[in-house]
Amino acid sequence: MSKAKAVCASCGGRLGARRVTIDRRIRGKLVEFDDVPANVCGDCGHAWLDGDVLEAMDASLLKPSRPRRVIRVPAISLAHLRAA
Ligand SMILES: [Zn+2]
Repeated sequence: MSKAKAVCASCGGRLGARRVTIDRRIRGKLVEFDDVPANVCGDCGHAWLDGDVLEAMDASLLKPSRPRRVIRVPAISLAHLRAA
C-alpha cells in the first residue's frame, strides 16, 4: 500500500486521509462502497484511491456476498426532461 500523497495531483491542494462513500459501475453493476479509505483534497474535494483499494472493490463483486444494504437509485433521461 502506497503512502498517502501530500498534494493533490489535480489542483495542488493538500490531501488528508478520510473515509468516503464511492459509487462505481463495475461490469455493468452500480455499487456504492461505504467506509472507503481515501486521500481527499481539501481544495477541490477529489478523493484519491490507492490501487489496492480499487482492486478490493473489484474483487468484492467477483464473489457472491450479501450487501450490507440495497438502495434505490433514480435514473433520469435529460432528453426526456428537455422534451417535456
Ligand atoms: Zn485538488
